[in-house]
Amino acid sequence: MRLTRLFLLTTGLLLALVSALLLRSVWADWRQVAAAELGLAAMQRAYLGMKVAEKASAERGPAIPVLNDTQPADPAKRARLQEFRRITDASFDEALAALGDSTDPASLSARAQLAQARQQLDRARAEVDRVAALPHAQRSAPGQRLTRAPIDLMFAVIDTVLAGVTTQSAAAEAIYPELAMPLVGARYAAELREYAGRLGSQFTTPLATGLALGREEQREIPLLTGRIEQLRKLISLQARASRAEAPLQAAIAKMEAQYFGTDLPFIAVLTERGLAGNDYGVDSASFVARYVPPMKSIVELRDTMFSAARDAARQRVADARTRMAINAGLGLAVLCIELAVFLLIRRRVLQPLLRITRAMNAVMEGRDLPARALARVVRDDEIGDMKRAVVALQAATQRRRELEAEREQLIAQLRHASDTDFLTGLLNRRAFTEQAAGLLAQARRHGWPVALIVFDLDHFKRINDQHGHPAGDAALRAVADIARGHVRQGELLARHGGEEFILLAVDCRASEARQLAERLRQTLADAPIPLPDGVVLHVTSSFGLAWVEARRIADLDTLYRDADRALYRAKAEGRNRVCSAADPQSLDVT
Ligand code: GH3
Ligand code: MG
Ligand code: MG
Repeated sequence: MRLTRLFLLTTGLLLALVSALLLRSVWADWRQVAAAELGLAAMQRAYLGMKVAEKASAERGPAIPVLNDTQPADPAKRARLQEFRRITDASFDEALAALGDSTDPASLSARAQLAQARQQLDRARAEVDRVAALPHAQRSAPGQRLTRAPIDLMFAVIDTVLAGVTTQSAAAEAIYPELAMPLVGARYAAELREYAGRLGSQFTTPLATGLALGREEQREIPLLTGRIEQLRKLISLQARASRAEAPLQAAIAKMEAQYFGTDLPFIAVLTERGLAGNDYGVDSASFVARYVPPMKSIVELRDTMFSAARDAARQRVADARTRMAINAGLGLAVLCIELAVFLLIRRRVLQPLLRITRAMNAVMEGRDLPARALARVVRDDEIGDMKRAVVALQAATQRRRELEAEREQLIAQLRHASDTDFLTGLLNRRAFTEQAAGLLAQARRHGWPVALIVFDLDHFKRINDQHGHPAGDAALRAVADIARGHVRQGELLARHGGEEFILLAVDCRASEARQLAERLRQTLADAPIPLPDGVVLHVTSSFGLAWVEARRIADLDTLYRDADRALYRAKAEGRNRVCSAADPQSLDVT
């Protein structure tokens, strides 16, 4: 697998893994936040329930004077009851509004319980109004207890609301077990407040009528007092077991001093008087004025406990959120760093490596490097070193190539020089001998006849003698130029030495060879050769011709010997003529 692909794959895998871990951690954190928020919401619902219970409980206070009212009815008592009812309704509305229309099971059950309590309250109020409308004599008839029934109905409202409080509080306790103390404590305090209220209610009728405690009161007072003492113990036990903090201890101490220190002894005295049939010594109004204010300490304790729980829960929610933010931030940072490292390696290592490899290939194949590869390398790292090495390699390769070209050129020049006669520019004898062997072999292969013509300038020595050696050279050059003009493609012409020239023609019939030699002789003889000093020379040449069929081709030496003999004859027969090695007639025939 290629490195780039492998790198891409592993990085992708790593990114996926880190992302999965990050998502998992954020998901877990988010669930904790959601659970903490759920617990807090349950707590708020429980508190709203406690407030509703408190207000609905308070409504009993003004209901009792209305139920016991003599005729004509006192409008002030009814107005007070209406005011309390309005407050209770407002607390129901507030609680229902706070629950909103969310469809989670906890909210649904809270709403259902509140709705049920409200229906119960409506029935209780209707009963209060019905009984209050009856003639006083009928209501107050001993043994009738007509005024008791509506109050019992109102107690039932509180029982329903407090059952809802317990449900919501238990939900919060399940999420925050460590907050069980303030939550349970607040619930106990709410119940305590209710029972304290009910205890007070027991005296409303006896105080209004001045009668001794009835059977109902005699049964209810010890029950309620026992329940109150029980809740008192539970609260102090809870506080002690959980080592409650200073504000809580202070609230408990205040309740102990105010409610248990003043209200309960006051109730004990009244109970004693009521049982004995003595005068109570207080009327309804002063009883309420004395009994109700200390009960506030119970509500305060409830609120203190509840706010302790709510503050701790809020802290938990905030902590969970912070943890989630930190985890998400750290995870994102890891992801970003990984991505950055990936891009960095890709940009700073892999891509340069790829470019360097391409550049190396280009250098090896002798192609030009792209301008970018040759740009000044500024990187001061291993990749930079590599790039510099490639550029240096390219320079060295370029230099080597130039040297090679130079050498090739020199060799070509040398070869040309070694093959060429420096005076005439024709082939020299060595090159002629070399190339002629190849040409003869070719002729032999193709079945071509060949002709070798050797010609020598006549009385050349005289030219030198009469006009000087440079003039002789000029004449040699002129003869060479003329002869070159007679040579066809594939024929070899050379200066054989001194003032002797040689011409090898292949695929050439005897007659053609003869004509060629004759024509050349004539041309040379006719050609004027002007010298620098203005003298015009005329030179003649003697020709020796050897012609042979393909099958009889021997070697160049043999052919030359025949041609040279013919040349010798031409000289001997008077010069400026062509002599053939064989009978010229037979040449013509061929
Ligand atoms: P023949 O007709 O019998 O050939 O008479 P010839 O004078 O041409 O022959 P010979 O062999 O006596 O003389 C050849 C002369 O050619 C002698 C030599 O100085 C001259 N020669 C040879 N090579 C050169 C050369 O390169 N330049 C010049 N200027 N003369 C040369
Ligand atoms: Mg000569
Ligand atoms: Mg000669």
